[in-house]
Amino acid sequence: MKTTDVLVIGGSAAGMVAALTGKTSWPKKSFILVKKQKEMMVPCGIPYIFGTFSCSAQNIMPVDAMLEKNGITSLVDEVKSIEKENKTVVLASGEEIRYEKLVIATGSIPVKPKWLKGGDKENVFVIPKDKIYLDEMKDRLISKKRVIVIGAGFIGVEFSDELVKQGHEVILIEKLPDILSLAFDVELSKKIEEILILRGIKIIKGNGILEITGENKVEGVTLENGETLSADAVILSIGYKPNVTLARESGIYVDESGFIAVDEYMRTHVKDIFAVGDCAQKRDFVTRSRVATMLASTACAEARIAGMNLFNLNVVKTFSGTIAIYCTAIGNTGFGTAGITEARAKEEGIDSVTGTFEGIDRHPGSLPDSHKQLVKLIAARHSGVIIGGEVIGGLSAGELTNVIGLAIQNRMSVNSLLTSQIGTHPCLTASPAGYPLIKAAEIIAGKMRTR
Ligand SMILES: Cc1cc2nc3c(=O)[nH]c(=O)nc-3n(C[C@H](O)[C@H](O)[C@H](O)COP(=O)(O)OP(=O)(O)OC[C@H]3O[C@@H](n4cnc5c(N)ncnc54)[C@H](O)[C@@H]3O)c2cc1C
Repeated sequence: MKTTDVLVIGGSAAGMVAALTGKTSWPKKSFILVKKQKEMMVPCGIPYIFGTFSCSAQNIMPVDAMLEKNGITSLVDEVKSIEKENKTVVLASGEEIRYEKLVIATGSIPVKPKWLKGGDKENVFVIPKDKIYLDEMKDRLISKKRVIVIGAGFIGVEFSDELVKQGHEVILIEKLPDILSLAFDVELSKKIEEILILRGIKIIKGNGILEITGENKVEGVTLENGETLSADAVILSIGYKPNVTLARESGIYVDESGFIAVDEYMRTHVKDIFAVGDCAQKRDFVTRSRVATMLASTACAEARIAGMNLFNLNVVKTFSGTIAIYCTAIGNTGFGTAGITEARAKEEGIDSVTGTFEGIDRHPGSLPDSHKQLVKLIAARHSGVIIGGEVIGGLSAGELTNVIGLAIQNRMSVNSLLTSQIGTHPCLTASPAGYPLIKAAEIIAGKMRTR
C-alpha cells in the first residue's frame, strides 16, 4: 500500500491548486494527486474549442508538468471509496493509498434533467470538462446546420457566439425573461443581448424547453408555449451539479442542496478531510445565504485556503464567503459582474442604492481601440458599502470587474472609492476626470446625500 501525507482527489482547478499551495506551504510533506483523466481541459476555455481554437489540444491545462515540477506525484485513476476510519482510499485499479490529510476536489457535472423528454437522443449534448467527450462533440457538430443552445448563462452565451463564428445557425433559448439575468440587472443584460443579436445569434427568452423531438436523432424542440423549432443538434447549458457521490457513499456529510458541507477552512465534518471547488458548499459573501455559485476563481480561492491550512490552522487564512465574480468577451466587448445585482439585493431585503456611469476606456476617446465603458455600482444604502458591480466595456472590463470584487471583499464604502487613487494612462484607461468606477460612486454618494 502506498502512503502519503496529503492525498488530493481531482486534478482540475481546485485539486491542482490545493496540491500546489499545500506543497508550497508544507514542503516537507508528501503529496499524491489522483485524477480520472490524463489530459485536463482548461475548463473556462472549453467554449473556444468550438470556434476560436482549431482543436482541444490548444486548451490543455499542463497539470502533470506543474505537479511534477513541484514534487507532487500524479496518478491517473479513479478513487472509488474513502475508508475514513483507517484513512485510506481505494482506486479503480484496486490500489489502496493511505493518507494523513485528504482533499476532495471532485468538481461538478452537467445537469441533464430527468423531466426533459428526448434528452437522450443522438445529437443532444451537454458540456462536461472531458476532452474525449468534447472532441467527439466537436466532430459531430461540424455537419450540423442549426444548433439550439438551451440556457443563456455565461456558458450558453459563449458557446452560441463560438458556434456562430463557425457558420452554424444558432438559436439561444432562455427560460427566464432575460439572458444572463442572474449576473446582470435587466438594463445591462438587454445591452448584451443587442450585441449577441448583432453577432447573428437568434434569442428566445421567457420560454423554456419542454421536449426534444425526433425519431432517434434530434429533429427539433418543443417549447413551453407549444412553439416548435427544427434543429440538427441541441446543447444543454442549464447548469452543473456538485459531484458528491464518492463523498456521500463514504459517509462524508453532504448538505440538503447536494454540496459537501465545509467550514471556513474548507474542512468537512470528518477530521483531516477537506473539500474544495465545485463540490464544496458555498455561502454568499454579502447575503450569507447558501448559493450554488460554481466558478474556477472561487474553486482556486478555496483550494488555496485548504492548502494553507492543511496541517495547522492559521486564523487569518479563512474563506469568508463566495463573491461571484465573472466576466466574458464577445468580440471586442467585455462584460463582467461581481457580487450581487440590484435585483438580487432587493430579493434579499437589502436596501440598496445604485450609480451607473458610461464613459470611455481611453482618453481621449479618439485613440484607437477605445471602447465605451459602462459601470453600474450597487451599495447598501445605510452603510454605503459596495455589494455589487457590473461592467460592460472593452477588454479591460474583466480586470475592472476584479477591482470591484476586491472592493466588495474588503467592504469598501462608496466614500473610500471616492477617495481612492487610481492610476491612468491615455492608451490603457479611462480619463482620471471621468473614470466610470469613480463617477458611478459619485452618483451613489449624491443619491445618499439627497435622500
Ligand atoms: C464551459 C465552461 C466554461 C466555464 N467558464 C468559466 C469562467 O470563465 N470563469 C470561471 O471562473 N469559471 C468558469 N467555469 C466554471 C469552472 O470551470 C469550474 O468552477 C471549475 O472547473 C471547478 O473546478 P473543480 O476543480 O472544483 O472541478 P472540476 O473542474 O469539475 O474538476 C473535478 C475533477 O475531478 C475529477 N474527479 C471526479 N471524481 C473523481 C474521482 N473519484 N477520482 C479521481 N478524479 C475524480 C473529475 O474527473 C474532474 O477532472 C466554466 C465551466 C465550464 C463547464
